[in-house]
Amino acid sequence: MNSTHLMSNYGTRALTLVRGAGSRVWDDQGKEYLDAISGIAVCGLGHCHPAVTAALTDQADTLVHCSNLFNIPNQQELGDKLSAICGLDNAFFCNSGTEANEAAIKLCRLHAHSKGIDNPEILVCEGAFHGRSLGALSATWGSKARNGFEPLLEGFTHVPYGDIPAIEAKASDRTVAIMLEPIQGEAGIVIPPAEYLDQLRSICDAKGWLLVFDEIQTGNGRTGSYFAFQQTRAKPDILTTAKGLGNGLPIGVCLASKEIADLMVAGSHGTTFGGNPLVSRAACAVIDTIQSEKLADRAKEMGGWLLEQFENQLGDLPQVVDIRGVGLMLAIELRGPCSELVAAAADTGLIINVTGDNSIRLLPPLNISDKDAQQLLDILCPLIQKWEAK
Ligand code: PLP
Repeated sequence: MNSTHLMSNYGTRALTLVRGAGSRVWDDQGKEYLDAISGIAVCGLGHCHPAVTAALTDQADTLVHCSNLFNIPNQQELGDKLSAICGLDNAFFCNSGTEANEAAIKLCRLHAHSKGIDNPEILVCEGAFHGRSLGALSATWGSKARNGFEPLLEGFTHVPYGDIPAIEAKASDRTVAIMLEPIQGEAGIVIPPAEYLDQLRSICDAKGWLLVFDEIQTGNGRTGSYFAFQQTRAKPDILTTAKGLGNGLPIGVCLASKEIADLMVAGSHGTTFGGNPLVSRAACAVIDTIQSEKLADRAKEMGGWLLEQFENQLGDLPQVVDIRGVGLMLAIELRGPCSELVAAAADTGLIINVTGDNSIRLLPPLNISDKDAQQLLDILCPLIQKWEAK
């Protein structure tokens, strides 16, 4: 079912998914799958959660869109909810994680210019993924995403992730911010050393730099708290999130402290669709559900259990390099490229993802049932054992 009229940037797509409910999806042949990636950390509440569907259908019947020239009560309510959760003052809503990061980068530049730094540098990390627009791509690491799109934007300096001394070595008097993922997602669920984020906060305070956390993937309950930074003492100056915020509706947000947010003035930034009545209503329902169903706690508990089970069943295999994760952001790193496991898992009714070539990435819905979690283990562990034996 590969159309000749689509660009080939996604390669060949093996499955055609036509329906979803909770942790399950079905293909066009009627085959059922357990979805252990939730649309890559998007459908944290599971597919077609009734609270989101109810909010969407009601709003679709009321007002889908109006321009940001007008007050949008749902957007204001969503801004209030996010501000109450993360402690930052003001939100800019857009349509994707990439756009949220563009807004963050633009805020860093406004901040630099307000301090008289004309040619600012933002420190970003090796392994980082921040998106594919030219700004976000320039902050992203790795030739796979970057090759062929040069010249990229100036003003980004990459430092090794988790390495505090490298910050000092690479910073200059033009450095204005550090931008990073609290846990790197696309790089294969890379968890930094325990005190890393707190140390970055101290460095930023001492130097007057902005600390920017990209919680596009780690946010919205995924790691066992609403935002991952809430498990540290490092509150960012700027925070971006997307993915799980809309449970499938395209929405992103850049939040900032008032002092930084106030650098945006009328006309300096904007978007047609961002935070429209429909997506804002959906995101409000998502947040309400994460909170009322205590899904961040559930992610913590279930993630801990799954890690333990994987460790018990796979920990001794020589081809298993590492089993790691925080909340329901899990990875099983194998000794070699293992992308063939994606098709093998799909054959047995399980959807997984491989990232960084050799890490199986698992991002199941935050509310995955005990039974489905057991099924995930029952399918995946034998597949890895078989891969090991080949
Ligand atoms: N930042 C992080 C940490 C991500 O994981 C992603 C997407 O995978 C992005 C940014 C880009 O988000 P989007 O694909 O919504 O533009």
